[in-house]
Amino acid sequence: MTESTKNTRSTHCMRRANGARGGGVRPGPFERARRVLVLNASWEPLGAVAFQRAVVMVVCGKAELVAPTEDGRLLHSERLVVPFPSVIQLAAYVHVPYQARTPLTRAGLMARDGRRCVYCGGRADTIDHVVPRSRGGGHSWENCVASCGACNRKKADRLLEEIGWRLPRPPTPPQGRHWRVLSEVPDPDPQWLPYLGQGAA
Ligand SMILES: [Zn+2]
Repeated sequence: MTESTKNTRSTHCMRRANGARGGGVRPGPFERARRVLVLNASWEPLGAVAFQRAVVMVVCGKAELVAPTEDGRLLHSERLVVPFPSVIQLAAYVHVPYQARTPLTRAGLMARDGRRCVYCGGRADTIDHVVPRSRGGGHSWENCVASCGACNRKKADRLLEEIGWRLPRPPTPPQGRHWRVLSEVPDPDPQWLPYLGQGAA
């Protein structure tokens, strides 16, 4: 396929997806803000894209719908009726260079620690630096844990050995591409979880 054919086709697809109408269903602000999980042809999670882009990919045949949104809504375009996508899969495999380290984000850290305080098991809503930053601790997967506000305040700028606390397990960077998705999207659609592998739930 030449570059110009590609461009013509993608412009055409874009127009069709943007001109989605009929049946009175049109993407509103909620759909536009919504993210859709993209899986490689090998089922490996690649990342999340904007709703509108996902619809274009499905309409153009670049991706297939894997899981529709739970509300069962349909998007009517000129020629097609497409369920609102929650998870899509690329039609062709794309090679993505492996990036070993998942960037540290609040969403990723909360997912790694199961949104539970590592000290008391309560609901975590803060990030604690195990070795406090004021004492040279870094902002890294190895030195950050999910913590409740009470434990975080009680610990303050002290070291665990100074107050007799212990970590249940050494904090480590999570491995695997699905962690990138979990680090980018704070509130993933529950429909994504079966496709994100271990640690996602
Ligand atoms: Zn706690």
